[in-house]
Amino acid sequence: MPSVLVDARRRLKAYGKLSGISDRVIESLSRPKATLCVSIPVLMDDGSTKYFDAYRCQFSSHLGPCKGGIRYHPNVTQDEVQALALWMTIKCAVVDLPYGGGKGGVNVDPKTLSRMELERLSRAYMRAMADFVGPDKDIPAPDVYTNARIMGWMRDEFEVIKREKQPAVITGKPVNMGGSLGREEATGRGAFLVTEFLRSKEGLAPEDIRVAVQGFGNAGYNVAKLLFDAGYKIIAISDSKGAICDEAGLDVDKVKRSKDKHRSFDSDYCESSVCESKTYKVISQEDLLALDVELLVPAALENAITKKNVNKIKARWITEVANGPISSDADEILYSKGTVVIPDVLANSGGVIVSYFEWVQNKSGYPWTLEEVRSRLQDKLKSSFDEMWQCQHQSENTSLRSAAYEIALKKLEQVIKMHGTKEYYSNSEK
Ligand code: NAD
Repeated sequence: MPSVLVDARRRLKAYGKLSGISDRVIESLSRPKATLCVSIPVLMDDGSTKYFDAYRCQFSSHLGPCKGGIRYHPNVTQDEVQALALWMTIKCAVVDLPYGGGKGGVNVDPKTLSRMELERLSRAYMRAMADFVGPDKDIPAPDVYTNARIMGWMRDEFEVIKREKQPAVITGKPVNMGGSLGREEATGRGAFLVTEFLRSKEGLAPEDIRVAVQGFGNAGYNVAKLLFDAGYKIIAISDSKGAICDEAGLDVDKVKRSKDKHRSFDSDYCESSVCESKTYKVISQEDLLALDVELLVPAALENAITKKNVNKIKARWITEVANGPISSDADEILYSKGTVVIPDVLANSGGVIVSYFEWVQNKSGYPWTLEEVRSRLQDKLKSSFDEMWQCQHQSENTSLRSAAYEIALKKLEQVIKMHGTKEYYSNSEK
């Protein structure tokens, strides 16, 4: 199995060729502009010092300052951060944001840290990155196992270093620290909206759509909740500890309450006496992916679907809420089977779109209402979805992902060409 970065580059090259993008442009988009790798010392509560490998990658700044989340996870590597930053480059271009692609990460299992250790780690990360990031250079945001509180600590640390207020240095902050209303739900809401756009094209009723959701964190919970409220039948949900399934449909709010209370829903989904008549079954995380459903929503990590398990996938549609949940070879097999995949670069772009709104509000000093945020998000996603749909239907043998890449790469190619002959004069290209 190739690394996630090798796979991301393979996909970039294949779609670049299909879209007629010049080799020179694809070559320049295949490597990150810069990656800062640091080792962060953190004072632990027991008085010892632990070192954590941490990264920030600025993949491309052709369309604007770099933008992308910070991930805390024990599997974070430089390769993974760079692949995620490459995808951010494509994503920001697809939805027409004035941003390039970036990403950050720390190799850590945050569940093993106390709250004070987590804060010290987050502040130390920002200290290490303070000269690398900035409101007009590179703007981080939350990703897996990071959240608004962590963004708040990082903003605070940046301002201590710079000795001035810089709310636009980071997005996804708590609302009372310059965060935007609607940012918390934005990734899930965006994924819900694009699923709704697809549903209206295909003419199915929500009640006829059975859904399996892999991952029940920020993005997974919010998309599940909105689908559930719209009448879709959520029959299975998983997290890092396990999975549950109920053919009659799960109550998403109840699952969330139970998970918050017990920190795991496979231990106790039902409450007190209702438990005796519980209808859900505990299944394996792998079995969830193979369920016979209309819609599968991978909302956890990369490579949930690879060549190994792709033949077991029965879903008719897949909304990719996670980044890179389908490897490129598995993607080809799904395409040949007729599975419709709404690609990550559009499906999960609600997060970066509302992060952009937050940045605009911070820069202008004028906060928006929740209704304004939601309605602008809907408008942006509708026009991006329609553009992708039209592009796919204009050419034969093209997937929605291929269409999304074509739109993004053409935009990037234009802007790279418009930068003119600067490279010639700096002698970096003959
Ligand atoms: P999160 O930390 O809030 O949640 C991650 C969830 O995945 C947790 O519920 C965890 O238990 C679950 N999980 C981990 N391993 C799993 C496994 N093997 N099987 C099932 N579940 C598993 O993270 P998030 O912010 O919701 O991010 C989820 C995905 O969405 C990531 O790929 C992330 O890059 C992507 N994404 C997030 C945002 C955002 O704004 N948060 C934006 C765009 C994309």
